Amino acid sequence: MTERSWTWQEQAACRRKSNDLFYGPEGEKPLQRESRESRAVEICAECPVREACLTHALSVPEAYGVWGGTTESARLALRRRRASAA
Ligand code: SF4
Repeated sequence: MTERSWTWQEQAACRRKSNDLFYGPEGEKPLQRESRESRAVEICAECPVREACLTHALSVPEAYGVWGGTTESARLALRRRRASAA
């Protein structure tokens, strides 16, 4: 079993931000979701560990939330593109 390193999270720009920005509530309306995700992605854009975060999110894969500057739907599309290219 491989032990995953989480040390990159110590430098995360979202470390002291509300989880509510990165994970929407059940039944979230599309416009609210879009607005929330945009604000989260803006934080990710300034994050020094964005690449490590995205690599983690794609490898697990993390199905929920904003990770590495990507939304749930963006990661799903990215995983599908990578799978079809392989
Ligand atoms: S890329 Fe975004 S979700 Fe990932 S650690 Fe940075 S701020 Fe948090």
